[in-house]
Amino acid sequence: MRWRAWALDLDGVIWRGRRTIPGAPEAVARLRRRGDRVVFVTNNSARTPVQVVETLAAHRVTAGVDEVVTSSLAAATLIRPGETVLVVGGPGVRAAVAGAGAEVVDAVALARAGTRRAPTCDAVVVGITPDFDYAVLTLALGAVDAGARLIATNDDPTFPVADGIAPGNGALVAAVERATGRRAVVAGKPHEAMAVLVRAALGAPPAGEPATSGSEATTPIPGAVMVGDRPDTDGLFARRAGLAFALVLSGVTTASDLPVEPQPDVVAADLAGVVESAVGDHAGDP
Ligand SMILES: [Mg+2]
Repeated sequence: MRWRAWALDLDGVIWRGRRTIPGAPEAVARLRRRGDRVVFVTNNSARTPVQVVETLAAHRVTAGVDEVVTSSLAAATLIRPGETVLVVGGPGVRAAVAGAGAEVVDAVALARAGTRRAPTCDAVVVGITPDFDYAVLTLALGAVDAGARLIATNDDPTFPVADGIAPGNGALVAAVERATGRRAVVAGKPHEAMAVLVRAALGAPPAGEPATSGSEATTPIPGAVMVGDRPDTDGLFARRAGLAFALVLSGVTTASDLPVEPQPDVVAADLAGVVESAVGDHAGDP
């Protein structure tokens, strides 16, 4: 079998909204019985890795905290110990920034307290939060205007919810970029910081030549695949991180969208289909 290391997107691969995608828990269990390496990769910055593990468990998927890579963790790799960071975002962002050894200044809490000026900060990290408002935007503008670096956990314009779509973190980042006139460094899929983290989680050496654009491929990791439902994030990410790309049709992409760019190595109805096509006829597979 050609794939022994699996980076799995969550929304559209393991679950869709609150519904578990049929066959996904069994497919992950099958990979585990084979002894394959499995890493769960999400652009959702709001949850901590522990919360992601709990959510996976609710969908009957067993995972360790060290098997979860979030866009908040990727953003935290752009922070140095001892820095002061204004966090616009949820618990996932605050925990990751604190875990990087930085002092967290909570923009939402400051705004709720009526503060209009943040203390001097080295960086502003923007992740999704339903508490984003004009007061929070004012604090972020002030910090960046005073010299703080602008970092975004991810730049997804929207994300799927039960009754349609909701504005994603990319929409919040755009407001901060517009107000400040600065471009954020984006950490999550399909960008570089996430690629570095996932390569490490899959046990690959760091890329020899860091990619400088979204379309540039890095040193491939033999036997590693990214399974996702979005060519524009998961597919580009796979190319950047040096992974094969398996496209599933259990999320936002449907058969009528095909063909897509970048071209997937495999297209299947769902994760169970990818695993079946990859390992199904392998002699001795449990
Ligand atoms: Mg997805």
